[in-house]
Amino acid sequence: MNRADKLTEERRGRLAAERMLELKQAELRAANRKLGLHARELTEKIVKTRAVVETIRDENQRFRSDLSAANQKIALTERRLWHSIGTIKDGFAFFNADNEMIMANQAYLAVFDGLEEIRPGVNYVTILQVLTEEGIVNTGDICPEAWRQMMTDRLYQPDPEPTIIQLWNGTHIKLIDQRGPGGDMVSLGLDISATVTHQENLKEARAIAETANRAKSAFLANISHEIRTPMNGVVGMAEVLAETDLTDEQKLYVDTIKNSGEALLLIINDVLDYSKIEAGKLDLHLSTFDLEQAVLEVLMLLQPAAREKGLALLLEFDMHIPSAVEGDPGRLRQIMTNLIGNALKFTSTGHIIVRVDTLAGTKDTIKIAIEDTGIGIPPDKLQDIFDEFNQVENERNRQFDGTGLGLAISQRLVRMMGGEIKVRSADGVGSTFEFAVTLPAAQAADPLPQPGKDLMHVIIMDPMEVSADILRRQMERLGIKVTVCADPDEVLLRCNSGVAVILAEHAPPTHDGIALAQTIAEGPCPVPLILLSNTPGRTMPEGRGEGVQAILTKPPSRRDLLAQLAALPERDTPQTPPDALRPMRILAAEDNRTNQLVFRKMIKSLDVDLTFAANGEEAMELYQKIKPDLVFMDISMPRMDGKEATQAIRALESETGVKVPIIALTAHAMAGDDAAILAAGLDHCLTKPLRKPDILTQIHAAHSADMRPLETAEKADQLAG
Ligand code: ADP
Repeated sequence: MNRADKLTEERRGRLAAERMLELKQAELRAANRKLGLHARELTEKIVKTRAVVETIRDENQRFRSDLSAANQKIALTERRLWHSIGTIKDGFAFFNADNEMIMANQAYLAVFDGLEEIRPGVNYVTILQVLTEEGIVNTGDICPEAWRQMMTDRLYQPDPEPTIIQLWNGTHIKLIDQRGPGGDMVSLGLDISATVTHQENLKEARAIAETANRAKSAFLANISHEIRTPMNGVVGMAEVLAETDLTDEQKLYVDTIKNSGEALLLIINDVLDYSKIEAGKLDLHLSTFDLEQAVLEVLMLLQPAAREKGLALLLEFDMHIPSAVEGDPGRLRQIMTNLIGNALKFTSTGHIIVRVDTLAGTKDTIKIAIEDTGIGIPPDKLQDIFDEFNQVENERNRQFDGTGLGLAISQRLVRMMGGEIKVRSADGVGSTFEFAVTLPAAQAADPLPQPGKDLMHVIIMDPMEVSADILRRQMERLGIKVTVCADPDEVLLRCNSGVAVILAEHAPPTHDGIALAQTIAEGPCPVPLILLSNTPGRTMPEGRGEGVQAILTKPPSRRDLLAQLAALPERDTPQTPPDALRPMRILAAEDNRTNQLVFRKMIKSLDVDLTFAANGEEAMELYQKIKPDLVFMDISMPRMDGKEATQAIRALESETGVKVPIIALTAHAMAGDDAAILAAGLDHCLTKPLRKPDILTQIHAAHSADMRPLETAEKADQLAG
């Protein structure tokens, strides 16, 4: 090769190398550019990452400081909490679900007086063990094992009841253990020693107050007893004196003594009862009694006052109420006496009707209503009259005296019996007081007689419409047809052979039942008459009783009425002549001479044999000797008291099988006496001062057909006259 070629080749080679170089350079540049780009990206990323790291570091920083602040707060709160728990004087501990102590305050631990065992981790059961073994707790009458068992049982209850434990030093701790979520338990031991001491002081104070109150009640009872005994003499003798020949002036004096004495006794009774009710000391004494008899006794007592004022005191007793009921007869009589007494007091003309009925829809709830035609009560005063010492104060009312306690006492007594007392009244027209109490029917010792089935038609003659209506309703309740006549002429007109009996008012001269009976007996269709008289104790005058079946006092008891109706067909059976009969024998045990005298005078009009015993021992001896038909027994007598004497008599009777009625004469007024007396075997209690009607009622009740009639012929003539 030539040089030129070589040069050309060289140039070519150089050129190719140069191109190659350029190419490589271009590649290098591109790679460089890429590298730069990448480096920039990387740098940007690093910057970004650095910023994130920065933020995180900041946040970390903040979290850390927040955490430390929170920790400080928790520590502070915990410190404060423990400080508080530590400063309270009551014990506080915390247990886990396994009953292991987590923590306890100083007061809790102090009870254990530094005992090593009692610290966090100890079990509740171990604590109970330590309490008994170290004698820290006073388990009283319970032995330590039983106490621990009791406390452990309590612990395992889901919701343990608070309990009180007593420590060796007398401190009283109330333990309150409360389970929380997860079975944890907070245990509180409250020192209630101060409260317990306070309660004990209160109990003591209360006992002292109760003793004082009992002393007051006893004092009141004693005082009333002491007042009653001489008042018995005063009232009784005044009653006897009033029956002797006196000038009008003397009679006025005697009546004043008697009325004042009786008024004083009523006031004493009211005050006594009221204070007893207030002190919660008045109890009801339930017994089986004859409700109708109780009502009649009250009426009998108040009848003289009604007669004196010219008022009719009437009774409508439902024919189907059971004769024996269960209740407190004494308190029922008291309520009725109050209400009927008020009715009498505030009525000057018209009548008072006592209605006894069962409450509609019930069997045992007895409704007693007392209806009067008196001055009435203004509507704005109706609510207040049951408050103690509240009396309607107006012109008409000021003339009436009273304590203002009667209605308050009655209301409380009715409430004690589970009832409520209500009043309806129209000012100037009259009032009705009504109450209903549950008196369950009891087994009657002596069921009511039943009238014969052929008793279809009766005539009632009563000039007083309300009174005739009552009798008519009673007869109609028995399914008997009734014709009401106003006077004897109408009876003669209406009487026919279908009439079984005539129930006629005997109030001569206008309504002379005896004369009417005679006329009818002599007429074409003789019908027997049962006479009803307002005068108690009226008996048939000898030789003038033709056609008269019986004379009953108004209001007649259902028993008497039914007995007479039942006896109608046999009215012709001959009666034992009076001469063949023996007198009724009465034994009265009474140590006080004045009382003996009062008693003798009270029954002097009766044809009876009366014997006195001066003490219980003598009563027992005389009982055996004279075999009395009735015994009146004073309760407080020397040597042997009335209750002992009665027990002795009852013991004697258990051999012979006869049982004489024994009536207690008592001056005690405290609740419970009656019950104790009846429990001793006496049949009935009469409270002194003795009242003639009460005595006569008892004598009449014990009188039987084999004894001479009670009224002497001379007395009967006087009455019938
Ligand atoms: P007292 O009759 O002793 O005043 P009560 O508590 O029995 O006391 O009666 C309170 C008052 O209620 C009587 O004073 C009287 O104003 C009035 N009151 C009670 N019953 C009747 C009645 N049947 N008619 C009119 N007012 C009566």
